Amino acid sequence: MPLDFLKRKNPDPTQPAPVAAAPPTAGGHGTITLPEEVVAQEFQLKLYYAGKSSEGVRMQAGPNAMHELPSMLHGLTKTEIEVVDPLPIEFSQATPVMARPSEAMQWLNAHHVHSPVTRHALVVLESIDAIDLAFDTFVCSLLDGEVDTSGYPEYSAIVGGVASHWDETTGDMIVRAVVGWGGKGVRGDTDRIASKILGGLLTNVLANQYALGLTAVERPMPAAGRGGLVCAHCGFASAHERAFYCPKCGMRLLRG
Ligand SMILES: [Zn+2]
Repeated sequence: MPLDFLKRKNPDPTQPAPVAAAPPTAGGHGTITLPEEVVAQEFQLKLYYAGKSSEGVRMQAGPNAMHELPSMLHGLTKTEIEVVDPLPIEFSQATPVMARPSEAMQWLNAHHVHSPVTRHALVVLESIDAIDLAFDTFVCSLLDGEVDTSGYPEYSAIVGGVASHWDETTGDMIVRAVVGWGGKGVRGDTDRIASKILGGLLTNVLANQYALGLTAVERPMPAAGRGGLVCAHCGFASAHERAFYCPKCGMRLLRG
């Protein structure tokens, strides 16, 4: 390995200053000799987001079921529980991607009120498509691990809780357990801890007085453009054009 750079760093004052390398002489045609190999400095960021979602649990329909959601996190939370409602049509483009300012602005306008834990959970779970606020109600807390001094979860912290939506065929509320984690790192035991927490959440959901049993989750399809209907009961303008039931209050939507 050549050590020329060391000599330059510690010049010997008794010696004449080294002659600077002659600049590449421009030839008659203005050509500069290219190096055989480009010396590149490498930069890299590895972001790792992961999550798990359980089977759905069908709940007895009715407005009371909605108020039961936070209790399904009982005994598993490390911070306060927050409820994130489905987003109305004016936020239908909301995406946590900084390079898309219009979508990012919608996302921030919709979610700046939430806690750092919930915002982190939304970034992780929306990025991996584990929840969709066009129809999901998301109930969230820190479930394992630590937060930094600003209150944001560390990469190995597990966040989440339950997500619910209204079944388009029956109008029943379907609840599933959802957990996520990630960031600039990954730890070997996080997946195992997350599985355990997911099981605990699902146990809580099934133990609820309104639970009717496990069901396959068929997630509604978000609208591709024009948007859906306005709920006559609560005024919620859904971004979900095929919804029969209001994503927010669960009442039947009337078609005009
Ligand atoms: Zn409604």
